[in-house]
Amino acid sequence: MKIIVQKFGGTSVSTHQRREMVADKVLDAIKRGYKPVVVVSAIGRKGDPYATDTLLSLLDNEKTYLEKREYDILMSCGEIISCVVLSEVLSKRGLKVRVLTGGQAGIVTNDNFGNAEILRIDTNRIINTINDGYIPVVAGFQGMTQSGEITTLGRGGSDITGTALGAALKADFVEIYTDVDGIMTADPRIVSNAHLIETMSYNEVFQFADQGAKVIHPRAVEYAMKSNIPVYIKNTMSNSRGTLITISRENIGRIITGITHMSSRTQISIEYDESCQNADDIFEVLANNKISIDLINVFPDYRVFTVNSKQEESVIKILEMLKIKYKVVSNCSKIAVIGNGMRGTPGIMAKILKALKERNIKVLQTADSHTTIWCLVKEEDTESAIKALHEAFDL
Ligand code: ADP
Ligand code: MG
Repeated sequence: MKIIVQKFGGTSVSTHQRREMVADKVLDAIKRGYKPVVVVSAIGRKGDPYATDTLLSLLDNEKTYLEKREYDILMSCGEIISCVVLSEVLSKRGLKVRVLTGGQAGIVTNDNFGNAEILRIDTNRIINTINDGYIPVVAGFQGMTQSGEITTLGRGGSDITGTALGAALKADFVEIYTDVDGIMTADPRIVSNAHLIETMSYNEVFQFADQGAKVIHPRAVEYAMKSNIPVYIKNTMSNSRGTLITISRENIGRIITGITHMSSRTQISIEYDESCQNADDIFEVLANNKISIDLINVFPDYRVFTVNSKQEESVIKILEMLKIKYKVVSNCSKIAVIGNGMRGTPGIMAKILKALKERNIKVLQTADSHTTIWCLVKEEDTESAIKALHEAFDL
C-alpha cells in the first residue's frame, strides 16, 4: 500500500475556497495512486474564531487558574473542528472520510501537557480505516496518554503529527502544505525577492526551523530524519513543486542556503572579578529554573549570553539575588546565516560583518558552528540586517 501523509496548516483550511483547494490536493494524491492520510491544523490564525490563540484568549490571560491538563483539552478543540469542517468538503467531492482525534489515531504521548512527547503510534486504527476504503482525517497537534488524557504537542505541533505519522505508517513521503511555495532563502514576508530552495538536507532544515523559520517545526524534521522519510513543503494555493527535504545532498556551489531569525532575545553580560566569586553559579541556577540560554561566550573577566525576553525579568531577579553585577540589552534579534556548504569556507564571517557595517547595523555578539553563523542585533535592525545579508550572499 502506497501511503502518503498530507498535512494542511491553519491558513490552508481558513476559508471555504481554500478547503476546496485542499480537496484538490487530496484528490490529486489519489489520482497519483496513493492512499492519503490527511492531518489538519486549527482553522486560521490568531483572531480567527477557532484558532488556538483565540481559544486561549477565552481564558484569563493575566493569571492561570487551571492546570495544564485543562488547557490541553481547550487547545485540542481547534483541530477537531477543523477536521470535521474539512471532511465535509472532502465528502461533497465524493470521498469517504473518517475523522480521528489524535488519541483515536493511536498517537500515544507522555503527560507533559502543553508540550507532550510522542511515545509511540498504534497504527492499527488508521490502517483499518484505509483498508475499509476511508481517508483518515486526523486532528494534528494532539495525542493521548496511556491513561486517556488529552495532550497537545506544542505550538506548531501539527507538523510533528504529520511526520511522526509518516514515519509510523512507513509512508512513501510526507507533504506539508502551507501558504508559501516552500522553504525560501529568507522569510518572504521580510525579503520580497527571496527565492524557493528546491532541495535541502534534514540538517539544514532543522537549523532553519530551530533558529526561527516558522515554516516547519524542528521536532517534525527530527522524526522525518530518523526514519529517512522525504518531506515536501508545498503551497496549498499554488502548483509549485515545493522544497524537497531528504538526506544530505551535494550543495553544488551553494555556500549559504538561507537566512532566518529569532526575535525577542535579551542579551545579558555579567562582570567577573574577585568581588563576585559566585558569578558562575548563575548558570546552574538558571538551569534549575528551566531558563535556557544561548550565544554563551565565556571570557576571563566577563560572560555573555542571551535569553528569551519573556524570561528577562526572572533572570534579573536571580542576578540580584546572587549579587552579580550585570548589564542588560533588551529587544534583540538573533540572525542566523545557514548553509551546509560553509563548512571550511573562509571569509564568511568577514562578509557578514562588512554587509552589516555598510548598513550601520551594530553587531552585539556573534557565534558560529560548522553550518551556521549567528549575529545578535537590535530588534529594530532585523529586517534591514536580513535584507543586507540576503543581498551580500546573492541569494
Ligand atoms: P502553517 O499555518 O501552514 O503551519 P506557518 O505560519 O506555521 O504556516 O508557516 C508558514 C510561514 O512561515 C510563512 O507564511 C512564512 O511567513 C514563514 N516563514 C519564515 N521563514 C520562512 C522561510 N525561510 N521560507 C518560507 N516561509 C518562511
Ligand atoms: Mg506551522
